[in-house]
Amino acid sequence: MKADFLKYQAQTSPYPLSLEISHAQGSYIYDTSKNPYLDFVAGVSANSLGHNHPKVSEAIKKQVDLYTHVMVYGEFIQKPQLALCKALVNTLPASLSSVYLTNSGTEATEGALKLAKRYTNRSEIIAAKNSYHGNTQGAMSVSGAEQQNRAYRPLLPGVRFITYNDLTDIDKITQKTAAVILETIQGGAGFIVPEHTYLQQVKKKCEEVGALLILDEIQTGIGRTGTFWGFENYNVVPDIIITGKGLGGGMPIGAFIANHEMMSVLSTNPTLGHITTFGGHPVIAAAGLATVHEITQSNLLAEAKRKEELIRSLLKHPGIEEIRGTGLMLALIMKSEELASRLIHTCLEEGLILFFLLFEKRAARITPPLTISDEEIVKGCSIILKVLN
Ligand code: PLP
Repeated sequence: MKADFLKYQAQTSPYPLSLEISHAQGSYIYDTSKNPYLDFVAGVSANSLGHNHPKVSEAIKKQVDLYTHVMVYGEFIQKPQLALCKALVNTLPASLSSVYLTNSGTEATEGALKLAKRYTNRSEIIAAKNSYHGNTQGAMSVSGAEQQNRAYRPLLPGVRFITYNDLTDIDKITQKTAAVILETIQGGAGFIVPEHTYLQQVKKKCEEVGALLILDEIQTGIGRTGTFWGFENYNVVPDIIITGKGLGGGMPIGAFIANHEMMSVLSTNPTLGHITTFGGHPVIAAAGLATVHEITQSNLLAEAKRKEELIRSLLKHPGIEEIRGTGLMLALIMKSEELASRLIHTCLEEGLILFFLLFEKRAARITPPLTISDEEIVKGCSIILKVLN
């Protein structure tokens, strides 16, 4: 386990790190020597309610005691799955009424792409440069980072790339296009928010040519930006959304969501349009349900916006060029890659966990649990300032 961790870190950091994790609670991770590390990353946004949240843990344990995995021939209902789907649909506009649960965000991307092709009977997909939608070969085909994808070519044919936020590129969306897939806020590219009416204009063009708009809400969804879904900030309703990460409250999950008519093409000739043994696993669904309940029934959404302001007000330093993002999806853009790398490494030594972004190497990610306290924010920010000074 430790060797794997070191290997993974070695791929993303020039510094070898060694942290053997013993347990985690709330906003803290503890190593085997009982040192606490304040977690400003939250499992890359997956631990939306922090570590070992009592309601999520209780839901998991209760479900484990009832049953774990079942498959029954014909119609059968698993209560946690159904309840999670209903809870998700309650957060969405009426047109997004049908949920397909998967095991990961990547698999949700795969499902959404297949759905768009089946529904439109078209094959072309348009994606954005520097986007990230996952790491299987289909998801990589629509992820626009050439240096990551080069070794795996040829990937899926029929994918064209546009520049995110560039309105002049929208004309590339035509009657051949099955779908345009975009992150609501570009994550790996550097937490790039959509400009003004960009997403609305893309949606308008999609409607004109009969293409679908898929928004990848894997990072932006489930409360991270201060609204339950990121797209709520931009006055646009996509045809399909993809979610994952924070939905499971730390458990592996994904989902693609569309309207009922669209989704029903996956169950008609050929049936079983997207197959998964474990997607919608009852234990994971129970964790997801507890997570959605907690976020929708608390003031965590409003708090995310307020906590953003607190972080922005505390982190003023000449070494920080910009703070990008919104809500609790923030990235410090440092003056150089070297500075970002040193910041992340030294903060870990000081007991604060930050993380890299995939393609913007000058960035340090700040995506703490939505439940982080003001006191913990102040503590983490003071470590960052101490390291920078
Ligand atoms: N899409 C976006 C925007 C992501 O950030 C990620 C993961 O980082 C994915 C898709 C893939 O999700 P997963 O790692 O759960 O497969």
